[in-house]
Amino acid sequence: MESKENKDFTRGMVVVAHADDAEYGCSGTVAKLCNLGFEMVYVMCTDGSKGTNNRNISQKELAAIRHAEQVNAGKVLGLKEVVFLDYEDSMLEPTIALRRNITQEIRRHKPDILICQYPLRTLDGKWGIGHPDHLAAGEAALSATFPSARDHLTFPELLANGLEPHKVSEVWIMSHPVPNHWVDVTNHIETSVDAILQHTSQIEGSSREEVDKRMREGRKEKGIGKGMQYAEEFRLITMR
Ligand SMILES: [Zn+2]
Repeated sequence: MESKENKDFTRGMVVVAHADDAEYGCSGTVAKLCNLGFEMVYVMCTDGSKGTNNRNISQKELAAIRHAEQVNAGKVLGLKEVVFLDYEDSMLEPTIALRRNITQEIRRHKPDILICQYPLRTLDGKWGIGHPDHLAAGEAALSATFPSARDHLTFPELLANGLEPHKVSEVWIMSHPVPNHWVDVTNHIETSVDAILQHTSQIEGSSREEVDKRMREGRKEKGIGKGMQYAEEFRLITMR
């Protein structure tokens, strides 16, 4: 089951809608890949400006806080860079402009592995009813990966700026209803929790112990039957 994350790949990218999405979905995996020497880049599609119950904080203030929290989480994990596309939170759509933005980052950072959100609305209740930004971010990331990042005639302005086409080797989709790839994150739970704890505005009132417990519970369940104490799961699609 321990898969190919250390074959001859050296670079990865995670595309998500909001600051903290990647921490909840794949931070154990990201910590592991960073530890293996991967250059990892996060691409945050929205500015996170709606994620609060606090009526005394403006969207602009919240966006600045969430930027800083994500940068700090990136430092804990050992990311190469966090890219903020800054689309308005909760209004994300899989537009051509978003696809172009993500294509640009793929061509710039040349990931072997691209991790993204599941682009379809799953109504089995396991994940509630889903967040529209997650669906849009997943859709745009997949469309940027194929075919936009590959084809030099798509978004010719990128090529004109020196960004050559790039083929991603594997796509790993988070929260897929039928995962086929499990990553053993047993040795990276602590780092993962440390990263989540940087998102102070989102976990107000939760102690480290509570966050740690929640993370371990979810990852323990995913490791059952896989010979892993704690796992994160994905649908891995090999790009041909
Ligand atoms: Zn989110």
